Amino acid sequence: MRFRVLEVNITTALSRSGLPDLDYALNPYIGCSHGCLYCYAKEYTRFSEVAENWGWVVVVKRNLLDVLAKEVKRVRRGVVGLGTITDAYQPIEALYKLSRKAIELLAVNGFSISIQTKSSLILRDLDVLKRYSKQIDVGFTITSTKIDSEMRVLEPFSSPPMARIEALKRLAREGIKTWVFYGPIVPGFNDDLEEIAEVLQIAKEIGSAVYFDKLRVKKFMWRNSLLAELAKKSLEYNWGRFMDRVFALCQELGVECRYGFEYAEEGASVEHYKTLDEYISRPQ
Ligand code: SF4
Repeated sequence: MRFRVLEVNITTALSRSGLPDLDYALNPYIGCSHGCLYCYAKEYTRFSEVAENWGWVVVVKRNLLDVLAKEVKRVRRGVVGLGTITDAYQPIEALYKLSRKAIELLAVNGFSISIQTKSSLILRDLDVLKRYSKQIDVGFTITSTKIDSEMRVLEPFSSPPMARIEALKRLAREGIKTWVFYGPIVPGFNDDLEEIAEVLQIAKEIGSAVYFDKLRVKKFMWRNSLLAELAKKSLEYNWGRFMDRVFALCQELGVECRYGFEYAEEGASVEHYKTLDEYISRPQ
């Protein structure tokens, strides 16, 4: 399949976010060439070409910065989630620089920016991130610490595990507030407690909190044999018992951990984190 880039004009850049810790969402691109097999975001795009060819078609919001420049003067200041249903630092950002310029625009106008990525390309913008570090936090999705991780099958085109970890450490060293998202946890792929302990150790070293989320079962997964198999495993998995062990590790190592699913309802005493489902399906 050939990778395709389309460009569109938009009328709105910022959308209201349903998350308590985000006021707005900003997605410079529609679709994501990281092409993670499990990606839920494809269910929330109105571009069928993007959804049906996930990872191979990306739409660039070409007038994003013009529209955003007007909006930042008009709307109330708040926290903007950059890349909530796309990766704002997927490879095409190297060319368009929409995320970089949007961060500058938002920060200069008094907004805070929360970025979640799987890409070490974010290091290109270290100068901007440092300049506005009081207004910025960066979360890295880290799903493995192994070079030959099986997660690469599910995340074929994002930065490899060590590149993400090194980028995360670098950001922390440079004084950027960081956090780790360990998810989705896929039974048999990245539910090894020794590996999770390694991630917690890294988080401890750099003072990051860690968020956990299980593989959520979505309709599209039943159309792919590998995903269907994993979805079935996730449905049968004893998540309560697993998370008990994970949180015992968090306590042992003194790392702040939160989770992204219904674990709280099962009696856990840790703080409840908004579910990824709610995160993705919030009004855009
Ligand atoms: S990096 Fe995120 S948005 Fe991109 S395909 Fe993977 S899960 Fe989806």
